[in-house]
Amino acid sequence: MESLSDIQIGQIRKDFPILSAKVYGKQIIYLDNGATTQKPRVVIDAISEYYSEKNSSIHRGVHFLSEKSTMAYEQARESVRNFIHARSSNEIIFTSGATGSINAVAFSFGEKFIKADDEIMISGMEHHANIVPWQMLCERKKAHLRIFPFESNGELDPEKYKKLFSEKTRLVAFTHVSNTLGTVNPVKEMIHLAHQYNVPVLVDGAQAIQHGHVDVQDMDCDFYVFSGHKIYGPTGIGVLYGKEKWLEELPPYQGGGDMVDKVTFEKTTYNILPFKFEAGTTNFVGAAGLKTALDYITSIGIDKIAAYEKELLVYATEKLSSVESLKIYGTAKNKISIISFLLDNVHQYDAGMVLDKMGIAVRTGTHCNQPVMDYYGISGTLRASMVFYNTRDEINRLYEGLLKVRKMFHKDH
Ligand code: PMP
Repeated sequence: MESLSDIQIGQIRKDFPILSAKVYGKQIIYLDNGATTQKPRVVIDAISEYYSEKNSSIHRGVHFLSEKSTMAYEQARESVRNFIHARSSNEIIFTSGATGSINAVAFSFGEKFIKADDEIMISGMEHHANIVPWQMLCERKKAHLRIFPFESNGELDPEKYKKLFSEKTRLVAFTHVSNTLGTVNPVKEMIHLAHQYNVPVLVDGAQAIQHGHVDVQDMDCDFYVFSGHKIYGPTGIGVLYGKEKWLEELPPYQGGGDMVDKVTFEKTTYNILPFKFEAGTTNFVGAAGLKTALDYITSIGIDKIAAYEKELLVYATEKLSSVESLKIYGTAKNKISIISFLLDNVHQYDAGMVLDKMGIAVRTGTHCNQPVMDYYGISGTLRASMVFYNTRDEINRLYEGLLKVRKMFHKDH
């Protein structure tokens, strides 16, 4: 697959104003993209233009601005549909983010389909956002959460996954890509297996959508969720994809605003899809910003981005592995450009703070993955998460930074 040249990356970097910022007088090296990505100028401008030229509440007015705003919102929905290759735009629900989307399904699906003693399956590598809503549901309904574990290299074992299904399993939820380990899970095969047991699947795409082509029809997932801010769009906007047959069946999870059809004090009837799940004044400006971000990514080519990020991952893995006493957590064969690691005897916060003073932004801590840390018996890691605007040169600077950290904290130097 064709990648991106250094010249192209140089051009791309100019699209992101924050990448030329300096911290402590040093050129910033932003390697915390797993937490949130930076925004290209077109997205920043789209938001600003929206407020300057289109701002008006959607779906509620016949006046010029309201129609313009409604059209922009529905175009954004169509862009998302196209980007993930959903069958219908009725299957695209705008939410506040991946967390909002998972909570929506946990509540709505839970209300309708979960009863005492039922089982919900998740993997051992889930982000808290894909654990806690299910725990809350299980508590409400006296149901049980079952966990299929991962192996020490960060891969899921298909046999252990298969073994956990029972006649009580009602839903499976797992991440497409692990935000700590970088593992790309074999989602298509896992979904296929769940469907053999007649169990629907929710896939958490928060760390996958920005790193490669996602096709929800090909994957055959029942639900797919992601956040705008991790794919170069604004915060506060996210997507819940659901197969139409599920969304038709599920009850709304919030009441008010656009989700109603007719309201009387005796009874309220609900709007059709997708509005049934979009209560209140939605984040229409965020949706437009997300559309701009998706257009931007499409103009570069998600496959080229994925190919370049793979190269960066290989380069960074080699480079970091050559640092003495550095241990990488997550060595799955199929990974995206996330590397979690620790330097022996150096606390991750100490290392992170020293790197920060060199202008290098990495994540430190548990990454909302406490059970993963417990599995390895550690309190956290450093995490370098790279995207297509990062460069080999930046990886070299991280490497040199880590050598300095080692020197500072190791007594043998
Ligand atoms: N799932 C995964 C795998 C994530 O990495 C994140 C964000 N760190 C989330 C869910 C939650 O995303 P958000 O906070 O944008 O809702």
